[in-house]
Amino acid sequence: MGIVVVGSMNMDYTTKVDRLPREGETIMSNFFTTVAGGKGANQAVAASRLGANVSMIGAVGCDSAGEVLLQGLKDEGIDTGGIYKVDSATGNAMITVDNGGNNTIVVYPGANRYLGREHIKEFTHVIGEADVVVLQLEIPLDTVVYTIELTNELKTSVILNPAPAASLPDHIYKWIDIITPNETELELLSGTDDIEKGSRALLDLGVKRVVVTLGSKGCFYMDRDESFYVDAFKVDSVDTTAAGDAFNGALAVAMVEGMGMKESLRFANGVGALTTLKLGAQDSLPHRREVEKFIEDN
Ligand code: ADP
Repeated sequence: MGIVVVGSMNMDYTTKVDRLPREGETIMSNFFTTVAGGKGANQAVAASRLGANVSMIGAVGCDSAGEVLLQGLKDEGIDTGGIYKVDSATGNAMITVDNGGNNTIVVYPGANRYLGREHIKEFTHVIGEADVVVLQLEIPLDTVVYTIELTNELKTSVILNPAPAASLPDHIYKWIDIITPNETELELLSGTDDIEKGSRALLDLGVKRVVVTLGSKGCFYMDRDESFYVDAFKVDSVDTTAAGDAFNGALAVAMVEGMGMKESLRFANGVGALTTLKLGAQDSLPHRREVEKFIEDN
């Protein structure tokens, strides 16, 4: 029982600059750090720090970065039995953050690219026992599609965070319980930059519930019966890296705990907002006590 995350594991190399460089420009950084990241691992850590039982299915390379990532998840209390070691470099991300907390990110998939359907198949029993499976798009699309098909056979709920943006085959939409695009991803999937029309288009494709994350504006929710905005918490953010991952991890936890939708989205907004207060990916993900206090105080 609990949450199974099927997704990427990366080592993040983060650098801070006064402003993002233009094409062809070289600028000096005033800060550099190496931290564990990857959307899959971030969402697993986010959910685990919020108190959920989490298992991760993913892949790392046979290198020191892979060892560090694996040990990091073990230290968080995450079940790492589903993490494969493959013959490739561990995935990495080059992240640049400016003074305003805006970022650019370049991802090298490495080992993540070798997480195939055969790996997922071996963990059919784990997926069958899960309350919810959480996926993103930093592993091969074929693996994502196969996992969603499997969750449908096994009657396990699915949250798909369609990031980074990529088109999806039409037949899987009907098996997605919650899809969580940001505005850019929604536009790519739906063909419109109108949030409400775009969400409706995804419902028409068969998704049960749509949650669009809107950065400092919070999020928008739509299902067949209702739709509403949930305001973000007002914070002085320093780095929005992993805010979306924190949000998705929190949403999965809320689903497992049976929270109502409005309460779930307020909870996820709180976790997302707290994540923007610190630099980095996994380092900045908050624990349950911090989140409860923050939501109470705000
Ligand atoms: P992504 O990083 O995937 O594009 P968003 O930027 O939409 O995702 O952020 C995800 C969630 O994190 C938002 O829905 C919101 O709850 C929270 N969040 C992000 N940026 C801020 C901010 N500047 N202030 C408050 N909350 C934020």
